[in-house]
Amino acid sequence: MRERAESERQDLLTATRWPPEDLQRVLTDGDLHYRALYLRGRVGIAVGSLAGDVIDANPALYRLFGADDPPEFPHAAADFVHPDDLATFVESYHQVVSADGPDSVEIDVRLVRPDRIVVWARVNATLVRNDRGEPDRVVAVVQDISERHRLHSRLERATTLDRLTRLPNRGVAEAQLRQAFAPGAARRAGLCAVDIDGFRSVNDTLGHAVGDELLFAVAGRLQMAAGDHLVTRTGGDEFAVLAVDTTGADDMTALADRLLDALAPPFQLAGRSLTVTASIGVSEAPTATTVPEELMRSADVAMSWAKAQGGGRRVLFDPERDAGEAARFTLLAALPEAVDRGEFRLAFQPLVRLRDEHVLGTEALVRWQHPVEGVIGPGRFIELAERSGAIVSLGRWVLREACRQAACWHEQLGEASPYVSVNVSPVQLVAPGWFEAVTDALTESGLPPHKLQLEITEQAVLGDEALALDVLAALRGAQVRLALDDFGTGWSSLAWLRRLPVHALKIDGSFIDGLRHTAPDPMDESIVRALVELAHALDLEVTAEWVETRTQAERLERLGCDLGQGRWFGDAGPAAWVPDLVRRSLR
Ligand code: C2E
Ligand code: MG
Ligand code: MG
Repeated sequence: MRERAESERQDLLTATRWPPEDLQRVLTDGDLHYRALYLRGRVGIAVGSLAGDVIDANPALYRLFGADDPPEFPHAAADFVHPDDLATFVESYHQVVSADGPDSVEIDVRLVRPDRIVVWARVNATLVRNDRGEPDRVVAVVQDISERHRLHSRLERATTLDRLTRLPNRGVAEAQLRQAFAPGAARRAGLCAVDIDGFRSVNDTLGHAVGDELLFAVAGRLQMAAGDHLVTRTGGDEFAVLAVDTTGADDMTALADRLLDALAPPFQLAGRSLTVTASIGVSEAPTATTVPEELMRSADVAMSWAKAQGGGRRVLFDPERDAGEAARFTLLAALPEAVDRGEFRLAFQPLVRLRDEHVLGTEALVRWQHPVEGVIGPGRFIELAERSGAIVSLGRWVLREACRQAACWHEQLGEASPYVSVNVSPVQLVAPGWFEAVTDALTESGLPPHKLQLEITEQAVLGDEALALDVLAALRGAQVRLALDDFGTGWSSLAWLRRLPVHALKIDGSFIDGLRHTAPDPMDESIVRALVELAHALDLEVTAEWVETRTQAERLERLGCDLGQGRWFGDAGPAAWVPDLVRRSLR
């Protein structure tokens, strides 16, 4: 037993260079207890001189350095420290050894092993004083925290970096933008919102793996083209490029153009060549009068405009256009309920036979009696209603109301009563149940079918041609009159016109405009003459729109036009005026 203890004591005594031999001999058992810890513990410990040399290190420490044997001592401590952390290390060392600083500091630094592997270490350095209380040595406890550090930075990356493209994510984009808008940070800032056109179909047809590869490649090109500006991935196929201290919108549009150019060459993916375009929305503003959210929204809105224009382009945000769209959107949202609330009215404009100025028909023109905005003309809401589908219920209301009024006139005037001409949107014509809606409106009101005319445009037949032609044939079979509205503005061929089962043509007002002067536009005059001849050859009645002067009316009559409509004969007015108007015209 005793022998073993003595040999262990010898072991502990001779295993290290410090304390020096003379001192080692006087070590007590308590001291030896600490030495055991020093030699066999798992924590790295180094003993350093006040000058910054390592005098001794325990086995745990040199194992941390990948060595089985202790290196040559003394050795400058700085040699073991990563260059980037050296300044921190030196400063902390000075603090510990200086008489008036703290006796102990803790820092995290990178240590570089002889094999160049970098180890993150938490170093706790403590000053050891001699018997006289003077600074003597520094003892540093060194803990390997590489694993903890790796975990931490992985976590950090996961919350800031997009996993696929390795670009900063939306959170970073927003944080950077807010920083740019902080007081005193930047005077102006700009944003490009980039969205890949048709990315869904890449995913759907080539698979998600190719989709991912594409996004990765796009990210790379954007980053190259953006130079110093921050590129982030903000969503599935959306990226944002943030620029600070811009000088104006031109800066940003130029950047957007560079981004588009960068995406232009085909991508080589999965053994094929893939051409990709993007839609870019551009916004740029002074930071003093804008908020970051506004800049982001503007770029997004402009991006949706770029998409709506077919993509493959950049569009600069335009506040006026945005305000107009916001107003239209408000209208659009209110539209379906406005039909139920009975906010629409019909006005009727006379259709007059040029030969004798008899009122043969009236066109029903819808008006919206808006509770806040007052009367709104169809130019502001018909197209919206068509796009949202609200036109179907609105159109049915117009149809029933027009038939109801026309039936009243018919009751008062008999066969002399005017037909009512109702505008029908292309959407309505091919919506299910339109034909039934027409026959129902006729039955319900008791209006004879030949007193109803439906005005369609060329677009009505452009979509589902077969279906549209079927509906038109059925209506004609039911004795309803059909007129082709705004004729001449589309591009229908003559052959096509022959196949349309219509009774009448309405020549678009823009041609009639040229006939208003004493010396009429010869081009417009010959177009109108040709259109009239063409219509008559096909046995169609011709109405001219926008007749505003006597000159126009007379000229149109000479050209053989049958009917006229316009200010000259009277603007659109309430239904109650119509019977009197007709009676006076017949006198
Ligand atoms: P439209 O069918 O070509 O109707 C003629 C338009 O010309 C009307 O405008 C009318 O007020 C206007 N007008 C009449 N006389 C003159 C004139 O002498 N000079 C000029 N410059 N214009 C004249 P409004 O009422 O604003 O209607 C515009 C368009 O809205 C209509 O064009 C029609 O396409 C559409 N619309 C009107 N009511 C309805 C409806 O109930 N349903 C559908 N689907 N569309 C409608
Ligand atoms: Mg019309
Ligand atoms: Mg028209």
